[in-house]
Order: sequence, then structure tokens, then C-alpha cells
Amino acid sequence: MGHEKVVVIGAGPAGLAAAGQLKLYGIDPLVFECDEPGGLLLNACSVINYPGTPGGISGRKLAKLFSLPERIAFTEVTDLSRRNMLYHIESKAGVVAALAVVVASGTVPVRISVPGVAEDCIHYDVKNLLDNPGSSIAVIGGGDAALDYAMSLSSGFTVNVYARGDFSKVVPHLLDKVRKIRSIMLHPESLPKNSFSEDLVIAAVGRTARVDFISEKLLSSPPADGSFHMCGDCRNGMYRQTAIAVGNGVEAAMKTARYLKKTENGK
Ligand SMILES: Cc1cc2nc3c(=O)[nH]c(=O)nc-3n(C[C@H](O)[C@H](O)[C@H](O)COP(=O)(O)OP(=O)(O)OC[C@H]3O[C@@H](n4cnc5c(N)ncnc54)[C@H](O)[C@@H]3O)c2cc1C
Repeated sequence: MGHEKVVVIGAGPAGLAAAGQLKLYGIDPLVFECDEPGGLLLNACSVINYPGTPGGISGRKLAKLFSLPERIAFTEVTDLSRRNMLYHIESKAGVVAALAVVVASGTVPVRISVPGVAEDCIHYDVKNLLDNPGSSIAVIGGGDAALDYAMSLSSGFTVNVYARGDFSKVVPHLLDKVRKIRSIMLHPESLPKNSFSEDLVIAAVGRTARVDFISEKLLSSPPADGSFHMCGDCRNGMYRQTAIAVGNGVEAAMKTARYLKKTENGK
């Protein structure tokens, strides 16, 4: 079993910010990432609210601006628990023990079934669709993510956005922008629907925290000694934004460094 000071789970904005801040304290965390560094940001067409990016920036470009940690284990953490003051982080690569953990695992999409559409034709993110443009695609959802997906796809597809409501929850700036794109058609109050003419569907009907790998004990009574932090979208409920995730990551790292100093000093 390997031994680490700090393990960070997830290399999205929160995890990368945490790892970067830890480095300033001379701590070189082991970061676990089961997909691509950058996380959900890689799906964002245009991020307009991140400080220092006047006029907006694509999520992929913004993600590239984040420094990568020196050590990334590209594997999924399948179990996280704590025994005898040590965290046990289990993955296909084996078990690692750590003094402290920062969980920055983001979210998973709410999955749906769509009448007449095979399960493997329902997508939940755009990053794998952009290289394979087609004729038309249905976007299901009436929030910011659905309209951001529609914008991403609008150069390669005719996009129909179907929503239960009237798009009134969408940030007005985004709604105005989408309304000006001719290849996007908005269909308010059009769900539920019995059939779709599009072959491809992308669903953006909500996301939930990705915490299935965390032991019930850690989730229900997280240690308050400063050794365990959850940050970013996995803990932020409806306030899921990159700048918030980054701030959470930095805060988690500062608190972790304090915890380690305290334990090293035997206090
Ligand atoms: C379409 C869309 C548009 C958006 N637009 C904006 C915007 O304009 N402005 C804005 O501020 N925000 C925007 N966001 C939100 C932004 O992308 C998120 O708030 C941000 O990415 C959250 O960062 P995070 O690090 O908390 O989580 P994530 O980015 O989700 O990163 C989590 C990472 O952890 C990894 N991971 C999860 N579980 C495990 C595990 N068990 N083992 C190993 N690795 C794991 C994942 O693979 C992922 O890389 C948008 C999101 C979407 C979907």
C-alpha cells in the first residue's frame, strides 16, 4: 500500500485549484482522475463569468489555463473510507493510504429514457459529439446547461431544444444569445413528448453529486479535524460555477495544510 500526505480526488477546476494551492505549501498531492483533466468545464461552450476572461472563453480553453499537478493517477477511485486516522483510497491501481483527502469529484448527469430512442443514442455531454456533426439533434432540458449544449452543437447540427417549462430559469444573457442563432429552435412546454424525429438526443435535465465511492460513515459524519474536505460541484447544490469550485479548492487546500502542520507539531 502506498502512503501519501494528501490525495485529491478529481482534476476538474476544484481539484486542480486545490492541488495548485497545496503545491505552494510544499505539498505534492496525488491527484486521481478517471477521465480528462478539466472536468465538466470541457463541455462548456462559452464561459462568460470567470474573472479575467472579458468577452468569454470556451470551457476547453479555460481548462487549459489551469496548471496540471505533477502527479496524476488516471484511474477511478472506487472506495474511500477512514480507519485509524488514515484514509484508504481504493482504485483499480490498488490501495493508497493518506493523512488527508480533498474530494472534488463533481457531479453525474440525471439519466433518462426517451420514447423511440435507443439508450446508446442518448448523450449527456457534448465533448464527444462535436467531432461528428449530423443533421439534427434534440436537446432535452430547459436550463443553462441545455442551452449551452445547444450553442456548442449549433455549428454542426440543426438543434431542437425541448423543455417542460418556458426557459424562464435560464440566465437572460444566455437566452438572448441563443435566440439569435438560426440553427437553434426552442420548444417551450413541449415535454413530455411521445416521440422524437431526431436520431440523436442530448439530455441536460439535472446533475447530482458524484459521491457513490465515499463510505457512508464519511458522508454522514465527515471528520471535523481538517483532514477531509469536499469542494466544488460535489457539494455546492444549485450553485455550481467554476469560480466557486476554484475558490472551494483553494480553501480546502489551505485548511488541509493547516491540519498537516498541526499533526506534524503533535498538537
Ligand atoms: C454545459 C455547461 C456549461 C457550463 N457553463 C459554465 C459557465 O459559463 N460558467 C461557470 O462558471 N461554470 C459553468 N459550468 C459549470 C462548471 O463546468 C462546473 O461548475 C465546474 O466544472 C465544477 O468543477 P468541479 O471541479 O467541482 O467538478 P467537475 O468539473 O465535474 O470535475 C470533477 C472531476 O472529477 C473526476 N472524478 C469524479 N469522480 C471520480 C472518481 N471516483 N475517481 C477519479 N476521478 C473522479 C471527473 O472525471 C472530473 O474530471 C458549466 C457546466 C456545463 C455542463
